[in-house]
Amino acid sequence: MAGTKPSCSKKKTSTSRVHEEESFALVQVDPKEPINAPIVSSYNDRIRPLLDAVDRLRNLLVMDEGIELPTIVVVGDQSSGKSSVLESLAGISLSRGQGICTRVPLIMRLQHHSNPVPELFLEFNGKVVNTDEENISEAINLATDEIAGNGKGISNAPLTLVVKKKRVPDLTMVNLPGITRVPVHGQPENIYDQIRDIIMEYIKPEESIILNVLSATVDFPTCESIRTSQSVDKTGGRTLAVVTKADKAPEDLLEKVTADDVSIGLGYVCVRNRIGDEIDKSLVGIPVLAQRLVQIQASSIARNLPEIVKKINDKLNFNVTELNKLPKNMSSVAEAMTAFMRILGFVKESLRKILLRGEFDEYQNYKKMHCTARLIEMLNQYNDELHKCAESDPIRSFLMDEIKNLEEAKEIVLPNFLPRTSFLTILQGKVKGISSMPIAFVDRLWDYIGEVVITVLMRHVEDYYQLQLSARRAGHNLIAKMKERSVNWIMEVVEMEKLTDYTCNPELLSEWNKLMSQKDGFLHGVLRDENLPFKVNLDGFGEIEVENLRQYPHHLHQAFDLKMRMIAYWNIVLRRLVDCMALHLQHSVFNLVNKYLEMEIVTELMTPLGGGIERLMEESPSVATKRSKLTGSVKKLQECKRVLANIMDRVATYGD
Ligand code: GDP
Ligand code: MG
Repeated sequence: MAGTKPSCSKKKTSTSRVHEEESFALVQVDPKEPINAPIVSSYNDRIRPLLDAVDRLRNLLVMDEGIELPTIVVVGDQSSGKSSVLESLAGISLSRGQGICTRVPLIMRLQHHSNPVPELFLEFNGKVVNTDEENISEAINLATDEIAGNGKGISNAPLTLVVKKKRVPDLTMVNLPGITRVPVHGQPENIYDQIRDIIMEYIKPEESIILNVLSATVDFPTCESIRTSQSVDKTGGRTLAVVTKADKAPEDLLEKVTADDVSIGLGYVCVRNRIGDEIDKSLVGIPVLAQRLVQIQASSIARNLPEIVKKINDKLNFNVTELNKLPKNMSSVAEAMTAFMRILGFVKESLRKILLRGEFDEYQNYKKMHCTARLIEMLNQYNDELHKCAESDPIRSFLMDEIKNLEEAKEIVLPNFLPRTSFLTILQGKVKGISSMPIAFVDRLWDYIGEVVITVLMRHVEDYYQLQLSARRAGHNLIAKMKERSVNWIMEVVEMEKLTDYTCNPELLSEWNKLMSQKDGFLHGVLRDENLPFKVNLDGFGEIEVENLRQYPHHLHQAFDLKMRMIAYWNIVLRRLVDCMALHLQHSVFNLVNKYLEMEIVTELMTPLGGGIERLMEESPSVATKRSKLTGSVKKLQECKRVLANIMDRVATYGD
């Protein structure tokens, strides 16, 4: 960029008056050749391919991929002359008829072409609308209505105006809606914020060149657009000021520009635009502006292109990787079947590991899934509950149940035979008393195993959304069935315990004998003397209240015997309940994993709700969306890459 000098920059200004055009390069040009600047055209020839490439990237919406392009963004307060500057540069009139209210970002692509007949068209919403100089403002208004609605609303969706005309500078600029402080009638309340957001979106990227349009008639530091551009470009290093209406305030313009109170790093260009219906006359400063812009644009493009190429490559690689990460789309039943079998295999193996073998490598830090440990904990807790419940308390209303039972078991037989019915009745009462505990345990157990099974299932069908519902349903059904089986089984076990008092365990007798050895001492203690204390000590049981026992001297012998048999036998019953529960649990889990699971899942998949194995080939809506987004993005980036490949050899030439 060395050698280019802004027409009216701080460094260059002298004390001459503004209308002394020499010193300000407020160039008066031939009305018929508005931008007849040879320098401009020489730049055009060399820059054009680069600009074309950038414009093609812009057209491909590469910005939507988060890749910013070097862009000249026109900002300025309302009526500062933004549209007029663009009109002057393009050599066309936009403000015929009603004029144009800029409500959408207008991307203006000026392209020199040798054909004396100008060619104008609009690009928006994916279509191209041809127009001409006569109808351009109407066409822009129609397009704006289509993009932003016919009210006064605004939109950030851009409208592109391509102007191919002889001797226009090859420039692409974006004209943004002017900043409005107070909403006019029909404008939304937050119009100011909306406009500010759009402006920020365009000027924030470091790649943007800010063309700040200032009216010579206003005090620059009070301009909203100055404050806005300063907020993103403090030093002004990428801001160029265009001072319009130079014809209106010639007196103090020089001082204003010289003072540079507002830090404009790229300098000032003072212009006088076409006004109203003037045709190409008295345009001042525009050729200089054109030249300056073309230079800035060229160096910005040259500076930014290598980074853009890199970003496009990075983004492309990233998206291709993302695309490959998506679950494979299945295209045949055979493929779906294979995938299904594989998933089933994984699920079963995972469950075998955690439920049966105690291998937790897949769930290292997930305690809930360390099932063998959790199951034995549950079993131990069940054992504790059984031993700590009221039915297992040996001294609760000591001998009273036995005495009452013996009372009712009296019959006409020889005395002193221990009636078996008494023992059974008491046993049945106790078993009934605890019968809800094994059922509750089975319930808890399957709830827990259910959670584990669902967790494992979900992990393995994560990528197959169609299987998720079926697998979940299958899991729940399976657990419900397993639970029902277990409940039926344990109820049967409880019934068996009620029906028969039997064990082959020799511990019963040895325990009973041991307990019976205290009988005489105990009975003696109870019956000895009514005045002695009401409590008698029994080894292994502690102090026992005996006052009320004294009323039943006839039954005491048998009652004590009965009690001790019961204590010895109850321990065996409880142990049996825990032992067989443990074996049942292992057996059920084994069957669950090796037998029922597969059947349940296959059955579920084959129901009308499951939709059969073909369903596996359907892609989840979220994956489908992601896939199509990524595919689109990859295609777009590949296209961008092609566009850039053709011009990369030139980029080197223009690097600074
Ligand atoms: P925008 O709102 O920033 O787009 O401003 P416009 O381009 O619509 O201009 C606002 C008004 O200022 C219009 O009436 C223009 O004719 C007028 N105007 C623009 N540039 C100049 C200029 O250089 N000199 C004079 N005298 N008027 C101008
Ligand atoms: Mg305007």
